[in-house]
Amino acid sequence: MAQPHPHVFLGDKLVPAAQATVGIATSAVLYGLSVYTVFPVRVADGARSAFRLADHFRRLEESCKIIGIDRFAQEWDYARFQEAVVDLVEANDPADDVFVRVSVHVVESIPGTRVRGCAIEVSMFVYDAVPIVPQDGMRLKSSPWRRIPDNAIPSRAKVNGAYVNSVLAKQDAIDSGYDDCIFLDANGHVCELSAANIFLVRGGTLITPDVSCDILDGINRRTVLTLAREEGIPVQERTVDLTELYIADEVFVTGTSAGAAPVFEVDGRTVGAGVVGPVTTTLRKRHADALRGDTDHGWTTTLDR
Ligand code: PMP
Repeated sequence: MAQPHPHVFLGDKLVPAAQATVGIATSAVLYGLSVYTVFPVRVADGARSAFRLADHFRRLEESCKIIGIDRFAQEWDYARFQEAVVDLVEANDPADDVFVRVSVHVVESIPGTRVRGCAIEVSMFVYDAVPIVPQDGMRLKSSPWRRIPDNAIPSRAKVNGAYVNSVLAKQDAIDSGYDDCIFLDANGHVCELSAANIFLVRGGTLITPDVSCDILDGINRRTVLTLAREEGIPVQERTVDLTELYIADEVFVTGTSAGAAPVFEVDGRTVGAGVVGPVTTTLRKRHADALRGDTDHGWTTTLDR
């Protein structure tokens, strides 16, 4: 990941990035007991705006609720969150588009594993908006590592510690010469990538694993589903077999750090004609327009005072 820009939010104020540290004896460090989200900030003509900021805040709240980080709801609301984001972005004054990573860390150092009532610290930092997967046709490998199921560490909560699962699978894919992994569940059904949701197109229908398939309820996934329905594209959210990807006409992935990016190969099989297909082309353009704030969905929050 790119380096944090110089000013970082920690606790209740902005501090220099080098001074923004979380203690070695905290549950955040010892157990990976933090939750997070990453959202894009667009910088254009001197104006700054965030994409689906309220949805990111809601997902952060929900992650805390699932895990039992109850102090977040007691100490933070959307107004405070937005204020901190505006301060952070203003202080760094980025020249180009950036990502903002917001984490809620459980910072109490207690013996044993507990979360309810434990002290928290919120951190926020800005970094360069660099995509984490190729944008011009990536190659994916189904992973020997299974996705952690909802009844172990729920995927719909964005928990730092759970990303060890993503690291294992992504590293395996890279070691095997691929760009990223495809996580399957214990029954072999398709879940998602290490940090992106997956879609396929077959016979003109857009198909993606539904939210009960051990996936993150991705904000860009929701965005693309909305845009597809607006385009009149038939949509199915359901269980997906790995072999459906092998015979798909088109495959693409979505995520804040992945964009809406085409897939040209799955497990050594070329997807469709091995080019960016028509549905992917349409939805990629609509997604890019939405990120630029060109559509009227109330997805853009201005960050200028
Ligand atoms: N799945 C996982 C596991 C992720 O980490 C991400 C990235 N946040 C996504 C999907 C895509 O989610 P979003 O569109 O909200 O960035």
